[in-house]
Amino acid sequence: MSFNYLAFAVPFFLFLIGLEYWVSKKKGKHFYNFNDTISNLSVGIAERLLDGLTLGLFYFVYDYLYKHFAFFHIQPSVLSWIGLLLITDFLWYWYHRFGHEVNLLWSVHVVHHQSEEFNFTVSARITLFQAVARTFFWSLLPIVGFSAEMITTILLIHGLYPFFTHTRTVGKLGFLEYIFVTPSHHRVHHASNEQYLDKNYSDVFIFWDKIFGTFAEENEEPTYGLTKPLDSNSFLWQHFHFMLEMAYAFKYAEGWRNKLKTIFGRPDNINPTYRRVLEQKFVIHKTNKVPSTRFRNYVVIQMVLVLIGLFGFLLIEEQMDLISQISIALIILVSLVNCGAILEQRRWIFYLEYSRCFLTFFISYYHFKEFFNPYIISALAVLITVYFKTLNRQYLRLIYGFQ
Ligand SMILES: [Zn+2]
Ligand SMILES: [Zn+2]
Repeated sequence: MSFNYLAFAVPFFLFLIGLEYWVSKKKGKHFYNFNDTISNLSVGIAERLLDGLTLGLFYFVYDYLYKHFAFFHIQPSVLSWIGLLLITDFLWYWYHRFGHEVNLLWSVHVVHHQSEEFNFTVSARITLFQAVARTFFWSLLPIVGFSAEMITTILLIHGLYPFFTHTRTVGKLGFLEYIFVTPSHHRVHHASNEQYLDKNYSDVFIFWDKIFGTFAEENEEPTYGLTKPLDSNSFLWQHFHFMLEMAYAFKYAEGWRNKLKTIFGRPDNINPTYRRVLEQKFVIHKTNKVPSTRFRNYVVIQMVLVLIGLFGFLLIEEQMDLISQISIALIILVSLVNCGAILEQRRWIFYLEYSRCFLTFFISYYHFKEFFNPYIISALAVLITVYFKTLNRQYLRLIYGFQ
């Protein structure tokens, strides 16, 4: 059996997150907030999960473009690797800058900026949509003449770097501040302070911002998050709120010029009242209610199981058939939506609980058909119904005071 050892990145990063949490506690700082941490991890888990399924497709795109449209065929050498890193970083700068200046791209990048905390878990706030958008920019690399192998290797290194810039535990780093993107630079990028807006887009080398006039130094304490905070822990709302706002703006814009502007224009031109209208429509509660310990524990247990599930999934993904891959991915995704819904204290989470149960049953049945006979299936159905009826009653009583 061959394992995908890249899966060990999951426990490695969790260890670093734990370390940062411990250091911040030791310093008496509150860099972590329960709801934000759960949301950040949820977004990251979904991306890792789906990225595993789409990685082959991205590789195919690079390979196809290289074989059919490459201007040159660049061979690996020290010089070409350095060149590739510089071009990748340059493309990243523009991908990231357009991600803030063009609505269509902001609709996928916005998720990265929703957290009002700033710690290692924020680096995980990347979505699959963002990976797709990025692939369009990276597609220039095979056309220039870099092979798919070289590109995927550099993207792995380039993708690792920003993890370390999402922290408040490190101050300024002396002469490194002039060459590399440091935590200080990236804190500015995540801040909503007036003088920090639309600054420091670079990923590895900071000089792109200096060349293109978007550099700002960290002088005052940043306030993190969006200028119009989301105040929601809903997994789905976080992913899709801006797409819905765009759709709304598109619908009400007059004339094609204005309609196109809602897609390719700047995010500050979208009328902020659309968000409020949509929030009412989808009943997004703007509460900062702290969930009870029991709720928190339930979320923590789910999160731990999901993380173990993700690690196992990534480790043996290649050994699984497609049906198992899709079923496990769905169970994990439903669990993530569930965690967000619990933090939002939504009543419909029970449908999610049922669907998760059904998926777990389906995958068990699919693999261990010989253990299931009609008696076991009926007994399981009764057990599940009784369990959820009781849980549902208790939940509603706890949250809404229903009897
Ligand atoms: Zn950004
Ligand atoms: Zn960031």
